Amino acid sequence: MYLYKMKQDILINWEKKSAENQKKYANFLKRADKNKVLKQLPNLHEEAFEKIDCLECANCCRNFSPRFKTPDIKRIAKHLKMKEGTFIETYLRLDEDGDYVANSAPCPFLGEDNYCNIYDNRPSDCYRFPYTDEDILLKRPAITLKNSTFCPIVYYVLEKLVVSPNQSK
Ligand code: SF4
Ligand code: SF4
Repeated sequence: MYLYKMKQDILINWEKKSAENQKKYANFLKRADKNKVLKQLPNLHEEAFEKIDCLECANCCRNFSPRFKTPDIKRIAKHLKMKEGTFIETYLRLDEDGDYVANSAPCPFLGEDNYCNIYDNRPSDCYRFPYTDEDILLKRPAITLKNSTFCPIVYYVLEKLVVSPNQSK
């Protein structure tokens, strides 16, 4: 029972806690022992995905667009039986970095049930998000911090690394 309560506690009011702990996360990301953290990430990543159901969240698909790189565009257009040019015209725009991104938010491929309508062919950015099992978590601290404000999985991993490393799962 106690362990069960501990399990729940970390995610209660997580948005508020994430906002409060941004400085702690930032300091941690600046000074972290890369090798030690990389060893911890696979377990924490798995643990977070066991506890958090993306289908009940979809914050990423609702508010941010992945980049649609050339291989993504080719694959998805083929899957949708569309010409690449038509696919681009219909769904994408160029962002300030010159990358193709969705031309609307939520993502046009997000279903009402939070399922992705092109899941098996989704962009590689979607496949990799939220990067909690990659060294990009340390290499791109600004992105990690931003992601921790809307993605409970990033929050969970940072919280376990930084604030309550000894808390039982
Ligand atoms: S924001 Fe994070 S927890 Fe929410 S759906 Fe995206 S990856 Fe999953
Ligand atoms: S392509 Fe699918 S997984 Fe990626 S943002 Fe859109 S709905 Fe989400």
